[in-house]
Amino acid sequence: MKNIIIFGAPGSGKGTYSEEIKNRYGMGHISTGDVLRAEIKNGTELGKIAQGYIDNGQLIPDQLMIDILALQYDSHPTGKGVIFDGFPRTIAQAEALKRMLAERGHDLGMMIELIVGEDVLMERLLRRAQIEGRADDNEETIRKRFAVYHSQTEPLSKWFAAEGIRHTFDWGVCKTKEGMLEAIFQEIEKENGGVES
Ligand code: AMP
Repeated sequence: MKNIIIFGAPGSGKGTYSEEIKNRYGMGHISTGDVLRAEIKNGTELGKIAQGYIDNGQLIPDQLMIDILALQYDSHPTGKGVIFDGFPRTIAQAEALKRMLAERGHDLGMMIELIVGEDVLMERLLRRAQIEGRADDNEETIRKRFAVYHSQTEPLSKWFAAEGIRHTFDWGVCKTKEGMLEAIFQEIEKENGGVES
């Protein structure tokens, strides 16, 4: 299986669709947000550094994130491909990822972009705040995360398009989670020359 980079704004469903893809195809899954939250929970040095950024809706500095990602990648089985969820978020991270994979004889695979309108995103994130109690899911921090997404992450979409690996899925067109999943699975199978699930 090709590697998959799952890309989209906060609340676009990156975690949810990553889980579904992982369960269907048995791929590895690296969520940088989950890695950081685990570090915070365990009170590690890295967790202490990350917390300040996360609580402010800011990104963790690139070099730190790139080092964390390489460690994670090397400790994951890569035989069935890996889903990158929440990484890369900047062009520097994308370039580092491409280089890191090339050094290991692997490549970026395909990028899946989730397009969801901001009103739906805000509604979902506020609902998630009530269910999961994530500290960064309050309205003020969400607005900052949207601003960071627009300025630092969204430009990456074009970077992936230029790499010729961008595949876009629009909530406004698919309308339901099942509709999105069906379209995503179809595209993954097409890219992999038809996979048995
Ligand atoms: P997420 O769970 O992917 O929404 O990530 C939660 C927070 O973790 C983000 O708002 C960032 O502060 C931080 N984070 C996660 N992944 C990255 C990344 N690739 N680069 C920088 N910061 C990140």
